[in-house]
Amino acid sequence: MLHETNYRYIVSVMSLRKLMTVLTLLLSAFLVLGFVAESNASTIPNPVKQNAEHAHENSWSENLRDRNWQAYLSPEVKQILTLEDPNPANHNPHTSLHDSGVTPMVNTETGVALWGNCRTINISTLIDSSLVEKEEMFNVVDGVTEVVSAYTGLTMSHKSNYTSTRIDSSNLQIPETGSILIIWVPKDSESLSSQQLGTTKVWHTVENDGTPTITRAQILLSEKIFEEYDSGVVGRGDNIETAVMHEMTHAMGIGHSTHENSFMHTELTNNTFATIADIASLVFAGSRSC
Ligand SMILES: [Zn+2]
Repeated sequence: MLHETNYRYIVSVMSLRKLMTVLTLLLSAFLVLGFVAESNASTIPNPVKQNAEHAHENSWSENLRDRNWQAYLSPEVKQILTLEDPNPANHNPHTSLHDSGVTPMVNTETGVALWGNCRTINISTLIDSSLVEKEEMFNVVDGVTEVVSAYTGLTMSHKSNYTSTRIDSSNLQIPETGSILIIWVPKDSESLSSQQLGTTKVWHTVENDGTPTITRAQILLSEKIFEEYDSGVVGRGDNIETAVMHEMTHAMGIGHSTHENSFMHTELTNNTFATIADIASLVFAGSRSC
């Protein structure tokens, strides 16, 4: 049985180019780039504040269901997760992830919020009917879903086609339990600020044994991604694919990275790439047994 409470978290990616042209917005923009937490129960403490107060502690708290690896552990990933030592007592992937600069979206005393790896995550894509590049938008999501599924080992099922509909920014569709809903919105959508290219909300529930489990995620992607970026290689450079990969990785429970070249950094540049720590965090995100 699950607790009734759901926690919701929002993380955004913004356009560096725009920020650089509007220096006065820089400071406020970085504040927006940090975690914004929402909760539908006012008595629940704000986890962002908890993280700030306990910043010295390892933000990748452990859960007994972790390390049920589903994906290939390359020697490089094993090394960064400290899994190479013959003595298991010396394995400490949680601390090494923390030290790598990668953060979790949600951290509680009994683990970070991740998807359980025994179920299929259903992915569906809504595209505002006014947008012209619907096929391309759907195909990017399709490709990124495959990459994220491969890195995490999580089973993901992307519907074979998108739904074209008028998106009402004041009444956005909530994803069903066990699913990730991706919504492409027009550039002037009120769902995103003028600086935002995308945003991800993650809901999680706390199970009876304290395990925080992600139950659903909603990704908003702006048409501006197609205006500001070109097509490119997923996770390499500031391109359409990498911007979508960034948000999709948030939906896996991974937060921002302090590594400035990481595709999970708050800014994407032409020096952006998927660091070994980024890949290790995705492998880790798929290791939570149900
Ligand atoms: Zn982000």
